[in-house]
Amino acid sequence: MQVVNFLKASMLTALIGVSAVMTTACDDKGNAGSASDVITEKFDKVDKITGKTFGTFYYITIPGGYPGGEDTLRSDAEFVFTKISNAISTFDPKSELSRFNAYPSTEPFVISPYLAKIIEESMRQGLRIEGAMDITVEPLVNLWGFGPDGEIVSSPSDEEIEAAKKLVGYDKFSLRYAKDVAYLEKADPNVSLDLSTIGEGLAADELAKIFDEKGVDNYMVAIAGAIRSKGANPDGKLWSVGIEDPTMQKGVFAKACPQDMAISTAGSYRNFFIDKDTNKFYSHIIDPKTGRPVENKTVSVTVIANQALVTDALDTGLLVLGAEKAIKWANKNDVAIYTIELDDKNKPVARHSKAFGIYLKCVARPGLTPSLTQKATADTVKLK
Ligand code: FAD
Repeated sequence: MQVVNFLKASMLTALIGVSAVMTTACDDKGNAGSASDVITEKFDKVDKITGKTFGTFYYITIPGGYPGGEDTLRSDAEFVFTKISNAISTFDPKSELSRFNAYPSTEPFVISPYLAKIIEESMRQGLRIEGAMDITVEPLVNLWGFGPDGEIVSSPSDEEIEAAKKLVGYDKFSLRYAKDVAYLEKADPNVSLDLSTIGEGLAADELAKIFDEKGVDNYMVAIAGAIRSKGANPDGKLWSVGIEDPTMQKGVFAKACPQDMAISTAGSYRNFFIDKDTNKFYSHIIDPKTGRPVENKTVSVTVIANQALVTDALDTGLLVLGAEKAIKWANKNDVAIYTIELDDKNKPVARHSKAFGIYLKCVARPGLTPSLTQKATADTVKLK
């Protein structure tokens, strides 16, 4: 089967330890660069940390150095990861969301304002795209072996899928406020929520907020495929981000310069299982309408927007919709997206919405990068 060929390649990539992300930060080494993307001078000092969180990897680079150095940077990052895990991890039975999921009642369940805000924003993004990103998808995610209950080797039965689907939909729970107290109500005691799809984006946003508050002008934070960047990379050029080739024929399929915006990619080819009986491949991205992993030919969707929570929510849902519908939606709503589909010969084919075009031209635009030096601004203007 066609898909299996590139799956093998992607498994090999994971095995040899290449970054398991679909959007890759191309920094000082990966960026070929051109005169037009130079915005400041090369940095003598660069703080960098990397590590594991949320069952995946993160990388943070601060050209010019971080106040307090790498130790402070690591403790700021860990503070954010712990705060988010305590709120939304479905892999930690003690998290606030896990306690709600385990709550076997339709009576109100009081939640923190922080969790309420995350749920509200996630719902808002999901509803923009016909509920294709749906945080009630948890029973299906678990059924297909991508949740905290662990992996499976054979596909679930149609009856199991139908039973889980009955718990899925934005009408299956409500978020309400009484005075200043937020609470959730389930339509069925077995309803449960999954915020994994926005977790990495949320963490990138929270770290970017801390960096901004500390006056850090140049940074890149990448948590799996969710990236926030600002200012210049260690070479003094625009940050450039690689969109991975899903067939693994070449490392980077295309490069984009998000220019102080958030960028993330959802891919259907990285996280999957192969049914031991049928040898069929199943992605971790589930179509809430069918109750099954996505089966369209769209293998990745990259989104650029002002918040990584937004890009992370939209990329998953737009992948469910498929490139054709996704591009139409993005053009109508002026959202920057880049899709990769496989054609009949299994060749990757890219398309992008109108709004994405500007990010493929890695030319520094005045006003978007507050860290531009006087000299760099002059360069930029001259190059226009
Ligand atoms: P994305 O495309 O961003 O999201 C896909 C994920 O979203 C799926 O895995 C599923 O959970 C969910 N999903 C699928 N379809 C839909 C849909 N239509 N609408 C909405 N959501 C959908 N993993 C571990 O293995 N171990 C851990 O300890 C662990 N801890 C975590 C802690 C936190 C706080 C978070 C946020 C995640 C954790 N994960 C853990 C999950 C793991 O990292 C996920 O694979 C990741 O969050 C999904 O992100 P992604 O970029 O791979 O895929």
